[in-house]
Amino acid sequence: MKVLADRQKFFYNKTIKTAAKRSAGCALVLLCAILLCAALVRMLSAHDGRVVPASASMPRPTLVIDAGHGGIDGGAISADGTKESDLNLAVALRLESIVRLCGQNTHMTRLDDHRKTDMISYSERDDLKDRALIVNETARPVLISIHQNDYPTEQPHGAQVLYSAYAGSEKLGKLIQSNLVSMLDPGNRRLAIPSPGELYLMVNTRCPAVLVECGFMSNSLEVSKLKDARYQTALAVVIGASYCSYVNDIQL
Ligand SMILES: [Zn+2]
Repeated sequence: MKVLADRQKFFYNKTIKTAAKRSAGCALVLLCAILLCAALVRMLSAHDGRVVPASASMPRPTLVIDAGHGGIDGGAISADGTKESDLNLAVALRLESIVRLCGQNTHMTRLDDHRKTDMISYSERDDLKDRALIVNETARPVLISIHQNDYPTEQPHGAQVLYSAYAGSEKLGKLIQSNLVSMLDPGNRRLAIPSPGELYLMVNTRCPAVLVECGFMSNSLEVSKLKDARYQTALAVVIGASYCSYVNDIQL
């Protein structure tokens, strides 16, 4: 009987451990789904519970998603050779899908890596000017630029949002930062901060604008997370749901 009891205990423990592993894996997806659903519900419901259309007099905001760098400009390169521009694009494309799922307009500054490949004519300044033009020519734009951070030493890690001086940027930046921390990385003590003057898109766009540094290319542990498609999706869900919630607030 004891052997049987021990065996039952063994299988019970094994089952519990397997279930715990599975539920840990599902927890992140579940959290993201809850956040997204909350944003969708808020978007569809007025304060008194009735469905309210967006203001008829104002065009709907369009989220311009900027995947930083691209083409010959790979941005920061990690120790294992991963290009920042590839990670930026992977998160940006997921963000576009998620925001469209929420019924919002989007526009991408680039859709692939085949941009600015001509080494002779390439100028970073011209590239940034082109991107700013795309933003400023969009009707009622909101800009989210996706980048990765970099530092001379390996220790720094954690996502951080920078926001422009334009009205609305701080609110959006702080919302994204707080959701990134609470949903994906509770140990991250970084705060959303005003962007420094040299960030071209943050200074030369006339709309709410934030730049999301999703993590550090100089931290190998963080790079392995950033390369994981599931983590890229989780980042996009949190950023996208934050945007939908922000847009809902400014439309009501
Ligand atoms: Zn960058």
